[in-house]
Amino acid sequence: EAKDAGRNTVVFFDQNLQARLNNRLELQRDLHRGLAQNEFELYYQPKVNAERKIVGVEGLARWHHPTRGMVSPGIFIPIAEESADILKMGEWVVRTACAQIVEWSSHPVRKYWTIAINVSVKQLRGESFVDQVIQILLETGADPKLLVLEITESMLLGDTEAAIDKMDVLRAKGVRFALDDFGTGYSSLSYLQRLPIDQLKIDQSFVQKLDSNHIHQKLTRSIISLGHSLDLQIVAEGVESEEEYEILKQQGCDLFQGYLFAKPMQRTLLRDEVDT
Ligand code: C2E
Ligand code: MG
Ligand code: MG
Ligand code: MG
Repeated sequence: EAKDAGRNTVVFFDQNLQARLNNRLELQRDLHRGLAQNEFELYYQPKVNAERKIVGVEGLARWHHPTRGMVSPGIFIPIAEESADILKMGEWVVRTACAQIVEWSSHPVRKYWTIAINVSVKQLRGESFVDQVIQILLETGADPKLLVLEITESMLLGDTEAAIDKMDVLRAKGVRFALDDFGTGYSSLSYLQRLPIDQLKIDQSFVQKLDSNHIHQKLTRSIISLGHSLDLQIVAEGVESEEEYEILKQQGCDLFQGYLFAKPMQRTLLRDEVDT
């Protein structure tokens, strides 16, 4: 009987694994087709300063799947990263953001907004990344100073020098870089000061429950002072409460992003100011 149970368990896991593989393959095919059929949309989430004024947005990809509905980037980015589709996806994001910068350039308020986009590791490592971004900036006429590229610490591991060289070329054109999800990866002080970045984004796991968690308060305080000592602008992500906003402001944090101000939303729903 124990043997039977054991066998059944194995069969159960096999079927589960098979189902997951099928699901993944289906999504991979759908994604490839969806890219060609414009099923993706860039949502925008405002970033505010200490006066609660919007100074920029982060573009976050969304997939409107024909039968599954909205699929989140947590699901489809890893799938896209398994093939060259991530490059196609990444190019679409750069192009969309640059076109948006140009469209907003005649708007009295939004012409000052930066647009940050997330870059994937394969994209950054790709041979044509730098040329592609420069080409898109030229083609669209977008102001490079309004474009912020968000990368993560883990993306730089192994290939740090090559990545730094690419970032240097783009920064010479005016493009800025932010280190996303800061605090979750590997980073020594000496490593951080070598990186050609302009912004540090404190990971939302430190911002969460900041209002009651004293350890988190100490961590955000030291990240902010570390960042400032390296002349970096500090962005807190995942700000959900007034208390968190208040504490971070007192600690000297420069910019804030989170549901407290606005969720990521469609371009047409964006407003020039966040609710107070
Ligand atoms: P991320 O770049 O760290 O983006 C922040 C994530 O936190 C977003 O999730 C955003 O919706 C969410 N968020 C913002 N404010 C709050 C808050 O107050 N509370 C909570 N709980 N969450 C908040 P999203 O849009 O699901 O994106 C997840 C991740 O997927 C992003 O993390 C980014 O790494 C990746 N991603 C999104 N769009 C793209 C893209 O176009 N290209 C690439 N390569 N990656 C992308
Ligand atoms: Mg990001
Ligand atoms: Mg982040
Ligand atoms: Mg995050």
